[in-house]
Amino acid sequence: MATVDALVRAATKRFRTAGLDSARLDAELLLANVLGIDRSGVLAHPEAPVGDGQVARFEAAVTRHEAGEPVAYLRGLKEFAGLALAIDERALIPRPETERLVELAEADIAARLLSAPRTHGAPPIRVVDVGTGSGAVAVAIAVRLRARRMLDDVDILATDDDARALDLARENAVGHAVADRLRLGEADLIPASESPFDLVLANLPYVSTEAMAELPAQVLFEPRHALDGGVDGLAVIRRLVAILPEVLAQHGLVLLEIGADQEAGIVRAVTELPGGWTCSVEPDLAGLPRIARIARIARIAT
Ligand code: GLN
Repeated sequence: MATVDALVRAATKRFRTAGLDSARLDAELLLANVLGIDRSGVLAHPEAPVGDGQVARFEAAVTRHEAGEPVAYLRGLKEFAGLALAIDERALIPRPETERLVELAEADIAARLLSAPRTHGAPPIRVVDVGTGSGAVAVAIAVRLRARRMLDDVDILATDDDARALDLARENAVGHAVADRLRLGEADLIPASESPFDLVLANLPYVSTEAMAELPAQVLFEPRHALDGGVDGLAVIRRLVAILPEVLAQHGLVLLEIGADQEAGIVRAVTELPGGWTCSVEPDLAGLPRIARIARIARIAT
C-alpha cells in the first residue's frame, strides 16, 4: 500500500520536473488536504498507509497542480497574516508581501487611537480597503483590532468592483467572525458618498500588461483584472491617487502596495496632485520598494 512518504516524494519529483517552485512543500500541503489533516501530520507520519480512494484524489490534485493550478485554489485556502482564508478563483491569492500592508495599517490605527484622548461618542476612525478581493487585508485588520479591543472605535469599508470577489470576502468575514464589523460595498474604487477616510488601503492591480505575458502559468489561473494594471502597471493606482484630494481626510494616510519598479512612478503621480502632498515608499521583507505612504504635507507639519 502507498505510504505518505512515497506519495510526497513522487509528487515532489513531478512538480520539480514541471519547473514549479516549492515542490516539496506543495506536495505536503496537497496530501495533507486530501487526508484532511494539517501539514505537521504529514511530516510526523511518513510511514502511514494511504488508502486507494485517497491516493486517487491526491493523484488528481497533483495532475492539476502539475498543469499550473495554484495550490491555494486546490486546497481552497491560503494562510495570510496568521489567518486561514477561504480562497478560490473569484479572487487573487493573498501574497506574503501584503502582510506588511496589514501591519502598517494596524500601527497607524493604533497610533491614532492611543495618541490622543478619546471621549465617549467620538467618531470612529474611518478605514477603506479598496479592491479587497478575498477580503484578506480588511479581515486581517479587523481580527487584529478585535484582539486589541480597538474594533469598536473603527469603521471599516471594503470595496471591490467584482461582486463575486465580494461574496468571497463576505465568506471570509463571516468565517473570522468580523462580518458585523466590516461593511462590503460594490464600487469602482471609493464611493464618493462614503468619504472622507482617515486611512485608505489598497492592493490594486499593478502588473504591466507586458509583464503579464511573462508571468508563470500559475498566476494565469488568477483573475486577470486583479493583476493587470495597464501599460506601466499603474493605470488603476493612478486613478485612485487622482481622487485622494476628495476622499482623504485632512490628516489621513494612504498605504498602497506597488510593484518593485514603480517607486518613481507613484511619487510622480502624487507630485502632480493639487495642494502639498508627500509620498515615501517602504521596502518589503526582500528589501524591494513595496508600500507607498501618501499624505498631505500638512499632516507632517502639524
Ligand atoms: N504581487 C503580485 C504578483 O506579482 C501582484 C499583485 C497585484 O497586482 N496587486 O503576482
